[in-house]
Amino acid sequence: MAQSPRLLNSVKRNPLREILRRSFLLIVLISHFSLLISRLQAQDSAYARRVICDLSSPAMYGRGMQHRGDSIAASYLRRELKTFGVKPLTKDYYQYFCFPQTRTKPPIVEKGYRSQNVCGYHPGQTDSMIVICAHYEHLGMHGDTIFYGAHDNASGTAAVLDLARQLSSNKTLPQYTYVFLFFGGEESGIVGSHHFADHPLIDFSKVKLVINLDLFCGGDEGLMVVNANAPETKPYVDLMERLNGRHRYTAQIGRRDNARNSDHWYLSQHCPAIFIYTLGGPFGGYHSPTDTCDGCGLGNYEGFLTLLRNFLEEL
Ligand SMILES: [Zn+2]
Repeated sequence: MAQSPRLLNSVKRNPLREILRRSFLLIVLISHFSLLISRLQAQDSAYARRVICDLSSPAMYGRGMQHRGDSIAASYLRRELKTFGVKPLTKDYYQYFCFPQTRTKPPIVEKGYRSQNVCGYHPGQTDSMIVICAHYEHLGMHGDTIFYGAHDNASGTAAVLDLARQLSSNKTLPQYTYVFLFFGGEESGIVGSHHFADHPLIDFSKVKLVINLDLFCGGDEGLMVVNANAPETKPYVDLMERLNGRHRYTAQIGRRDNARNSDHWYLSQHCPAIFIYTLGGPFGGYHSPTDTCDGCGLGNYEGFLTLLRNFLEEL
């Protein structure tokens, strides 16, 4: 429809009003956009909160041997992966293993007890792989007392699941293939990831980097990276530090030498592998029945996840 000469005249006569009108529209647009972004971020953190609370609920019995809590948690993870369209690395996502005689006293799992790692992948443009992993099981029950394990390690499991959700929802194929691994048996001596390292479902020579997340609530004082100083991992941690220096996602990124303290250990014997945990609270406890969902602070979570997403994009 053609504009009436009267309207054109009025616009011509009031350039200031037009500038004000356009500025107002721009402000409305910007505020709507930031509202959308903050809603998306809140959704991300809300998803992690839901997963942490589900995994550390009484219905999972502390994700140990009692009432087969570990298997209830494994089927929860498998269901989520299927929903995202993440493909299975085995016919049913599970890699089964049996526990050897463990050294913990009292033993938290009996010799011969069968558990499973949960394994999926999202294909990329190449078969070069980034592995993102966490242990999902915990201490189970001691008598009638449930060790809920929100911080250790429902939190890291939720972050890996959240990354699987976000990365697999991209319409375009990523450069690398993403492999998502959820290990059992960590608390009894890193049994599940040891089994995976001895019976790999992937070609370790194609793995560019393993990122293991364990203890991911809180983080008011930043993040710590284990195995940050080895020649094959140092350039990656340097990149992470540079990104954090530029965008201030977190208070600091600390560095430690390699240690046999989580699931990255056996994988690091075959390919570059780092382990990231949070520094500072809040979290409910460590190896204690007080480690519940309520105590798990997620105020820093968005920063951590954005750092990891940005880091993955830069690899
Ligand atoms: Zn633990």
